[in-house]
Amino acid sequence: MQVYQREEHGISRKDISENALKVLYRLNKAGFDAYLVGGGVRDLLLDKEPKDFDIATNATPEEIKALFRNCRLIGRRFRLAHILFGRDVIEVATFRGHHDAGTVKMPAGKQAIASRNHEGMLLRDNVYGTIDEDAERRDFSINALYYSIKDFTVTDYANGVVDLQNRLIRLIGDPETRYREDPVRMLRAVRFAVKLDMQIEANTAAPILELSTLLKDIPAARLFEESLKLLQAGKGLETYKMLREYNLFQQLFPILAEHFTEDHSSQTEQMIEHILAATDDRIAEGKRVNPAFMFAAMLWYPMNVRAEEIASTSGLSDYDAFMIAANDILDDQVKNIAIPRRLTTTVRDIWQQQHRFSRRFGKRAFAMLEHPKFRAAYDFLEMRGQFEGQDVAELATWWHKFQFAGRDERNKMVQELGGGHQRRRRRPQRRKKPQAKSAS
Ligand code: ATP
Ligand code: MG
Repeated sequence: MQVYQREEHGISRKDISENALKVLYRLNKAGFDAYLVGGGVRDLLLDKEPKDFDIATNATPEEIKALFRNCRLIGRRFRLAHILFGRDVIEVATFRGHHDAGTVKMPAGKQAIASRNHEGMLLRDNVYGTIDEDAERRDFSINALYYSIKDFTVTDYANGVVDLQNRLIRLIGDPETRYREDPVRMLRAVRFAVKLDMQIEANTAAPILELSTLLKDIPAARLFEESLKLLQAGKGLETYKMLREYNLFQQLFPILAEHFTEDHSSQTEQMIEHILAATDDRIAEGKRVNPAFMFAAMLWYPMNVRAEEIASTSGLSDYDAFMIAANDILDDQVKNIAIPRRLTTTVRDIWQQQHRFSRRFGKRAFAMLEHPKFRAAYDFLEMRGQFEGQDVAELATWWHKFQFAGRDERNKMVQELGGGHQRRRRRPQRRKKPQAKSAS
């Protein structure tokens, strides 16, 4: 253990959010120990602006709740206190202890709970302990640094400051055991390596390939949260590449992995790289990103392949096969990553509109413009134009012109398409085919 004094580490109170300071002071005043820990300290030492401030304390969740009116207790696997200041949330965690011989500090009448499954994975982790134990329970050395507001010291339990200087992501303890306890740590190793532009230290990296499949046991809801932090936080493309090297991306997106090639050249792989680069650019420009758009893009070609299979084996119309494939692919994907329904609805909308873009006759084109997801669907069409050749690119150009044209020009554009009546009459006939079949 190493203690760095105020003048040795360069963190000052003014770098820390006012709300985090309030929580630290209040806990201290009530006689508890309280530290800033995790990403907040790490990022300040790296001269980066922390995303959030996490606090660790020897007060139990109940004791924390008694101190703060604006406090919510959350979590089952880890019980945590959230102190709410408007939209700002300060996360306060009670020091964790070891599972076998922890110093158990629980309110009277309650049992300390920790349990593992057969793979050694921790299912619940609510044994409380000392700060030393808490440090050992953290994932990486660079995340086990504790800043005290009492004496302005940084306490380093796992040589994290040196690892920060050498830019190394190093697990605390035996890597294989730590990954088995919580396989998400493999994702976190990659996430921090890319985000902080560091190397995964050799012993920490070594077991990942072999243990990557343990991610299958992680609840899909947690993997959804993680997938956003990995892919929608500004360095998605680089993160994808590293995740793929470690066979981790394949666990999150098995449907995409089926389309992986040696030289990363399939349409699916090109699309993944394209959408992640575009997402990174948007984030760099401070624009909002919609995860539904990313999922729609990544799964687009696998969905089309599935639709072709269904159409050719079932005799269903292209459109029906397409809609069944859309549902199939999303149902499969949410088993790994629980994409919430509000997003899968948007994914399905974007896909469905792709079909409608080519039916522009009569009033249809005008109606398309009114669709709430028109903008996203159009952007998607334009993006496809870059991968799928002339026809799609021309269609996208037409729609670009159409959406910005005046009313007269729009009418003219639709008339110029010609053949509308003829095609409109053909559609119901096509629909009858499968019906006729099933009747015979
Ligand atoms: P950031 O918030 O910038 O993504 P962070 O390091 O603060 O990074 P959080 O997920 O906010 O990451 O977690 C806060 C701290 O909790 C971490 O720094 C680490 O010490 C600890 N921690 C989080 N997840 C785990 C885990 N799966 N296993 C062990 N310790 C963890
Ligand atoms: Mg954090």
